Amino acid sequence: MFSGFLAAGILEKAAAKGVLDIRVHDLRDWTDGKHRQVDDRPFGGGEGMVLMPGPIFKAVEAVRAETEAPVVLLSPQGRMFDTETARAWAVCRQVILICGRYEGVDERVGRHLADAEVSIGDYVLTGGEPAAMVVVDAVARFVPGVVGKAASVAHDSFAEGLLDCPHYTRPRVFRGHAVPEVLFSGDHARIGRWRRRQALAKTAALRPDLIGARPLSAADRSLLDEIRKERKEP
Ligand code: SAM
Repeated sequence: MFSGFLAAGILEKAAAKGVLDIRVHDLRDWTDGKHRQVDDRPFGGGEGMVLMPGPIFKAVEAVRAETEAPVVLLSPQGRMFDTETARAWAVCRQVILICGRYEGVDERVGRHLADAEVSIGDYVLTGGEPAAMVVVDAVARFVPGVVGKAASVAHDSFAEGLLDCPHYTRPRVFRGHAVPEVLFSGDHARIGRWRRRQALAKTAALRPDLIGARPLSAADRSLLDEIRKERKEP
C-alpha cells in the first residue's frame, strides 16, 4: 500500500534529498511460529480478529531509535489529528505510527505503549494505513526542505488559523467567469489586503468555528467587521 505513496511527488523527492526517511515495517517480522500470526480472536467472543500486543510492542521496541520518539496509535477513537499536531511532530527526529486492522488493536497497546491515539476523522477505515499516509504527508509538509517554498506552507489553510485565500490562474476569463481585477493591479499591498480579506470571508462563511478560536489582529477584526456589514450580519 505504501510503495506508490512513497515513490511519487514531494515525499519521494524529500527522501531522495535525505530530508525524510520513511520506513514501513511488517508486524509479522516480530512474531513467533511458522504462521507468523499477528492477530487472534477476541476474549469474550464477538466479531472479527484483534491485533495481539506482543508483535506490536516488540516492533516498536526494535524500531525506536530515539527515546523521545512519540509512539502514535492510529485509531478512530483517538483525538482528531490537526495542523498543530503535524507541526509538533515535524520537529521530532522520529515518529512511530502504529496501524491497526480488523476489529482493532489489543487495548494494552493504546494504554501502555502508545503516547497518543489519533484519528483522521469521524469514520472508520478498514485499516490504519491510509490514516498513516495522511499523517505522514501532513507532518512532512512542515519538515524544512520538504516543500520547496516554505512561505506557501505558512499561508495554507489552518497554518494561521484561517482558510487559505482563493487562487486563480490562466485564462483570465473562463466560461464567462473573470478573475478579480485586483490581481492584475500590480499593487502588492492591495493584493495582500484583498487576499487577507478573502481568507477571512471564506473562513467566516465555511468554517466559522475557526474565527474566534485564535485572537485576531486589529486589522483582521476591522476587515471582518466590513465583511459582516456587507453581508448585513449582526
Ligand atoms: N473496532 C474499531 C472501532 O470501532 O473503534 C475500528 C477498527 S478499524 C476497522 C481498523 C483499524 O483502522 C484501526 O485499528 C485503526 O488503526 C484504523 N482506523 C480506522 N478508522 C480510523 C480513523 N478514522 N483514524 C485513524 N485510524 C483509523
